[in-house]
Amino acid sequence: MSDMLTCTACGSDKAEPVVHGGSYILRCAACGEVIVATSFMALLDSEDEWAAFIDAGPGKIPRPEALVARGSLRQISTAINVTTRKGNFIRLIPEKRE
Ligand SMILES: [Zn+2]
Repeated sequence: MSDMLTCTACGSDKAEPVVHGGSYILRCAACGEVIVATSFMALLDSEDEWAAFIDAGPGKIPRPEALVARGSLRQISTAINVTTRKGNFIRLIPEKRE
């Protein structure tokens, strides 16, 4: 399964999750090529906690003030959908559990 996450454009294996237009996208962190996309709705049952930021671009860490919401995807999906409807990409960063 691991080569599924390798970028076909540049060969990088560094993927980062973003959300846009109802899609959950794994994007190459080196060149920005879309590696795999799936429906964002399909992920809402996940228990994982995320921090959602306005995207700063491939390979860039969003600034703290770009935070949109944090919590489980079900909790933050409304805020994410409102933001992506304005044309923004949302960068998802996994929350570290204590
Ligand atoms: Zn790439």
